[in-house]
Amino acid sequence: MNAKIWLSSPHMGGTEQNYVKEAFDTNWVAPLGPNVNGFEQDLSLFLGEGHHVAALSSGTAGLHLGLVLLGVQPGDEVICQSMTFSASANPIAYVGAIPVFVDSEKETWNMSPALLEEAIKDRMANGKKPKAIIPVHLYGMPAKMHEIMGMANRYKIPVLEDAAEALGSSINREMCGTFGQIGVLSFNGNKIITTSGGGALVSDDADLVREARFLSTQARDEAPHYQHSKIGYNYRISNLCAGVGRGQMEVLATRIEQRRAIYQQYVTKLKGVKGISFVDEPQGYFSNRWLSTILIDPAVAGFSREDLRLTLEKDNIESRPLWKPMHLQPVFSKYPYYGNGTCDELFANGLCLPSGSNLTQADMDRIFAVIDTLIK
Ligand SMILES: *Cc1c(COP(=O)(O)O)cnc(C)c1O
Repeated sequence: MNAKIWLSSPHMGGTEQNYVKEAFDTNWVAPLGPNVNGFEQDLSLFLGEGHHVAALSSGTAGLHLGLVLLGVQPGDEVICQSMTFSASANPIAYVGAIPVFVDSEKETWNMSPALLEEAIKDRMANGKKPKAIIPVHLYGMPAKMHEIMGMANRYKIPVLEDAAEALGSSINREMCGTFGQIGVLSFNGNKIITTSGGGALVSDDADLVREARFLSTQARDEAPHYQHSKIGYNYRISNLCAGVGRGQMEVLATRIEQRRAIYQQYVTKLKGVKGISFVDEPQGYFSNRWLSTILIDPAVAGFSREDLRLTLEKDNIESRPLWKPMHLQPVFSKYPYYGNGTCDELFANGLCLPSGSNLTQADMDRIFAVIDTLIK
């Protein structure tokens, strides 16, 4: 059996262990410490001036805290992109709110501004103004944030931007994660950089980020004893994981280049194949190409998404269907949905190909050799 080729696996840069060793040497293993501060500074610097960062235990924790900070209450409605990973939507349930799902547009595969407006108007006509909007930058491709922010501002609804897959992506050089009132990043094991597990909450509002740090460390009031006037969470990143993050930040720019180069190889090799299509960057958009994705029209290509996935699997190569939309998930199917069939079709025909920055040319050649067996 050939060695396994993964969809997206951790790729260390080499200096991570120095930061972790320093934490051990100074016995700074426990929650907070210099690596947490250093990691937050690195992220702020990367995102640009005025963007404050609270490093957390996961992206999911960041989305949950974001909803808490926006004051979302039980029974409130929150609009969420349907085409996404469940962690975008689960935190809506954590706060007892009701998710309202919105379909994607075809250009970026992210939240359709037109359907977003339809949803806002219809919910308001039903007597309930949504309390937040959660757009997602799928696979690193920025959502249409100018249109979405314009709409959100017009209706005065805050945006919680799920940038978990889009660290380093941008629109006209404005970084993903910095468009909404609150942005969320993830450093889970399969993301473009990893802390083994971690996330971050981003905002231009320094007080809000201070409050995020406070709530994420059990909301302890200033007192010699343990005193609490708010419900707290244990959502801070550890000084060890943040050390891995500091090392990873040193190679982030390289990782983005490497992922984009892998995407480019797929484009060069497959763009001419009938029935296979890619999602190009609109003017001014920059994707970190976290995952390389394709759509296969089986009627034109002569093979389906599943044909390709299973053929790759036989050669021990991991690929994966696109995210199954939330409105199709058993756990969320009873909630309102505004759509026109776009993300259903993306799910039916879309595939994520191996995309890790640590793929070798031999790996890529193996992948293409397998794909060639299907292309007539
Ligand atoms: C990975 C991911 C998350 C969750 O991040 P974790 O750090 O794994 O909790 C949220 N949303 C999207 C779109 C993601 O891909």
